[in-house]
Amino acid sequence: MLVSEIKFMPVSIDRKKCVTCGGCVGLCPANAMHLETELKHDVKKCTSCGVCVRFCPAGALELKQANRFATNS
Ligand code: SF4
Ligand code: SF4
Repeated sequence: MLVSEIKFMPVSIDRKKCVTCGGCVGLCPANAMHLETELKHDVKKCTSCGVCVRFCPAGALELKQANRFATNS
């Protein structure tokens, strides 16, 4: 059986694209996003769920793959 798992890094923000709409702040189930003068992201809280990435109307958020491994058993 082939089993593979993909892990992701905490979300990264492209501040040039972010229009500070605040949508990701309200949607984040981990309360990892905060809007002050600019968007703040608490990487320790982020579970890399991807909800904010899918929502962001400006395409300012990205999930990068941390590692990938597969096992045969
Ligand atoms: S949803 Fe996108 S544009 Fe809106 S505050 Fe979050 S990162 Fe910025
Ligand atoms: S990936 Fe999930 S946990 Fe991380 S900031 Fe976005 S909505 Fe929050």
